[in-house]
Amino acid sequence: MSAEAVVIATFTNLPEAEAARSHLDSLGISAEVKRDDVGGMHPHFDLSRGIKLLVNAEDEATARETLAVRDDSPPAPAWACPACGEQVEGNFNACWKCGRERI
Ligand SMILES: [Zn+2]
Repeated sequence: MSAEAVVIATFTNLPEAEAARSHLDSLGISAEVKRDDVGGMHPHFDLSRGIKLLVNAEDEATARETLAVRDDSPPAPAWACPACGEQVEGNFNACWKCGRERI
C-alpha cells in the first residue's frame, strides 16, 4: 500500500474488522487491517487499544460512505440472560430485566 493511508474506522475485534475490510475490497477499495497488539504477545490488548482499518486517502470518502451504509445490516442476534434466562435483544449489553451484564 502506498504512503497515504488514513484510519477510517476502529474495531474491538478482528472478525468485524476483517468483515469491513473484505466488504471494501469487494467494492474495489483496497483496505488494510492494523492491530495494536504488541506483536501478538498480548492479544487482549486488541480490546483496549483497538484494531484500525486503513484505506488510501483518495478512497477515504467512498470508504466512509460504504461503512455508514453497512450499519443498516441486520441487528445482532438475541442472547439469553445467564441469571434469569430472559431473551435480550443483541444491541443491549445488559439484561433489561435483572441488570446482569452480558458475558
Ligand atoms: Zn436477566
